[in-house]
Amino acid sequence: MTGVVYLDNNATTRVDPGVASKIQTFFSERYGNPSSVHCFGRAAGEELKQAREHVAGFLGCQPGEIVFTACGTESDNAALRSALEVQPEKRHIITTQVEHPAVFGLCKYLEENKGYQVTYLPVDSAGELDLDRLQLAIRPDTAVISIMWANNETGVLFPIQKIAELAREFGVLLHTDAVQAAGKIPIDLSSCPIDMLSLSGHKLHAPKGIGALFVRKGTPFQPFIIGGGQEGGRRAGTENTTGIIGLGLACALAGQDIEAENARVAGLRDKLENGLLQAVPDARVNGGRAQRLPNTTNISFANVDGTAVLRLLDQLGICASAGSACASGSMQTSHVLRAMGVPFAFAKGSIRFSLSRYTRVEEIDFVLEHLPGIIERLRNRDS
Ligand code: PLP
Repeated sequence: MTGVVYLDNNATTRVDPGVASKIQTFFSERYGNPSSVHCFGRAAGEELKQAREHVAGFLGCQPGEIVFTACGTESDNAALRSALEVQPEKRHIITTQVEHPAVFGLCKYLEENKGYQVTYLPVDSAGELDLDRLQLAIRPDTAVISIMWANNETGVLFPIQKIAELAREFGVLLHTDAVQAAGKIPIDLSSCPIDMLSLSGHKLHAPKGIGALFVRKGTPFQPFIIGGGQEGGRRAGTENTTGIIGLGLACALAGQDIEAENARVAGLRDKLENGLLQAVPDARVNGGRAQRLPNTTNISFANVDGTAVLRLLDQLGICASAGSACASGSMQTSHVLRAMGVPFAFAKGSIRFSLSRYTRVEEIDFVLEHLPGIIERLRNRDS
């Protein structure tokens, strides 16, 4: 195998070659500021308009409901902080124990430093939520429910349609972090009553440094970054023109053939998963019983150190990520796997493989050829 076997697409993705070539000219030739009134600026503004239409088309919403940001983390922060600011009398937030740090870390900060109360909903061993518990958690002072659409570590999908209907019924704002869902499963905001949704360009073959926040028309919104009047006054700062144009094209491309592409990627993911489960004793798939993203598998190999596995994979050019990390000399396992009750012996040996439309069957075969031997060697060494 020559080159890198890149199976870490939930961390970041390759920029689509068509996207890369399109944005190139906006760095060096067509670099106008979209706010300028001259023709050079107006041409950039026209491209931005088109990109906004592509993103809106991809999500099934109106162009005016899209606010471009710098990343998924900013979109998450903007949504939650706005929901709290526009309802100062409401001091309660509902989220889950398995959110990405962009939401989880912010909720911890708001709880510990700003006096908000936060309910962190638990998940079961499959990584799934109990919607009765969600309903019971809603209080008169609940300002916002923030629940991710797809989990970045396991790929487990939460039932956002039902969650959105419940939030609507109780009159609570719903934000969803769809950073991992966007581009991997169809999203249609015209039929799903979500109030705010975050996405990030670099997870769907657009460049890093561009994100978007959907804010449904009529949802009260208080900007997080204040200054000029860009983005309809909802996010100040000269637009990241190349990023926005790249995101627009990436969304247009991601929307094409999503079903067929998903079936192909899920087939490769299943081949990898089944092959590893057959070849390696004491292995399990975390979240395997739940509805999942087609591209993600999180596999635990008992009694090995995941970071040691990653290092040996890396020597072969295979890129994946681990659900554990060594911090200050002690092994820290992932908060997601802990919330699912994965035993420590398994959690510390968990590896996430995340595929993309560029993943080829030879890459999966290469991992299947080498990983079982790596696990066996590490187990023999450590026993
Ligand atoms: N939310 C989820 C679920 C993610 O997986 C990530 C990134 O891994 C983020 C938010 C943050 O996105 P960004 O890297 O664009 O800030």
